[in-house]
Amino acid sequence: MTTFTRDTHIFRDEDMLRDDYQPESITARESELDTYKTALQPVINGAQPRNIFLYGKTGVGKTAVSRYLLKQLQEDSVKYDDVSLSVFWLNCTNLSSSYQVAVNLVNTLRLADDQISTTGYPQQRVFDLLYEELNSIGGTVLIILDEIDHIGNDDEILYEIPRARSNGYLTETKPGVIGISNDFSFRDNLSPKVKDTLCEEEIHFSPYNAPELEAILDRRAEGALYDDATESGVLALCAAIAAQDTGSARQALDLLYQAGEVARAAAHDRITQNDVHEARNKLERSQIEHGMRELTRHGHLSLVAVLQLALESKEPFRVRDIYPQYRTIAERSDIDPLVRRRMHDHLADLAMLGILDRHSRNEGRSGGQYYEYQFSVDLEIVVNVVSDFEGLTLPRRVAKLIHSVE
Ligand code: ADP
Ligand code: MG
Repeated sequence: MTTFTRDTHIFRDEDMLRDDYQPESITARESELDTYKTALQPVINGAQPRNIFLYGKTGVGKTAVSRYLLKQLQEDSVKYDDVSLSVFWLNCTNLSSSYQVAVNLVNTLRLADDQISTTGYPQQRVFDLLYEELNSIGGTVLIILDEIDHIGNDDEILYEIPRARSNGYLTETKPGVIGISNDFSFRDNLSPKVKDTLCEEEIHFSPYNAPELEAILDRRAEGALYDDATESGVLALCAAIAAQDTGSARQALDLLYQAGEVARAAAHDRITQNDVHEARNKLERSQIEHGMRELTRHGHLSLVAVLQLALESKEPFRVRDIYPQYRTIAERSDIDPLVRRRMHDHLADLAMLGILDRHSRNEGRSGGQYYEYQFSVDLEIVVNVVSDFEGLTLPRRVAKLIHSVE
């Protein structure tokens, strides 16, 4: 008997729906590509490269477009003997300072058996090592710093590298920096000297609309799915949902992938619109679960307090009901409770994340206003997440319920 047989429906090549898949062509970004291409033109001319800053929300094609265009640039630059182009990518997701970026750049440029330690050097020494490496490469060096917003205010490096040539540190190499950011406030908060150098060329990527997302999905589905793998309207539905929510191609692709998995699990021969709705619910649920897990300690305490109340009596609840619960749980867990108003901020956060519903009410004749809270997700989801919290002494009812589920 065979346990596994290869799919003959739905997915032809599911890897093409994964986030790290690099599409061979770019859809629906003509004007951004044009601007980007113009900004890179000096490289082909053998001139000093411009520094470029790309920004826009997550999933709108910043990384994909950059990879696509830089690959073209590398291929085309080979045709010119007097252009020697090297391109280095660094994802800055886990880096929180210019120092860390500089160390990681040195290590990106160096061989694997010649890496430097990530701590312990004075900042200037790391910059010197970086210039040494850059000088030894020669020609034009483009450095792409993706997700650069993670370095926050510590943005010195975005000034240092572009200026290294005019400051006399780089004699052999013409450096260019391409910074990519998901966070708009990062751009606004860049120090003025960085803004002047890095943002020489700025390219803004706006969210996609539904027809653009559908075109992207259509192109991707050609390779990823079998020809008749979707009921009519499925791609348009994924596109419409993502356009309404975030305008992110990542969200649209995730939705299609998840819908395909729902269809596969249900042994459908093709993806139906219902599968898309189910996939959307699943994704939303896992997003909310993720949101709950990522809360701070006091966010967790507030969540458990409301959960305990919801298990005891009928929702909704006022802050004056929730706060004493919160205090009790905090004290039993050996955590200093926040004052009531600060705890209320956490309830507002829970509402913003879509975990709680919040309504304002008027207090009879006195005219005072207050808020009422209730869960906007199944308690079962909340219980499931809360059962993983560590370091909290859970109230009895919550603990008992978790026990009975496990
Ligand atoms: P960002 O870097 O802005 O967060 P990405 O470039 O990673 O977004 O895009 C997210 C996903 O959507 C990737 O799988 C990418 O291949 C795809 N994608 C985004 N824009 C396009 C586009 N214009 N054409 C084709 N695929 C795209
Ligand atoms: Mg990206």
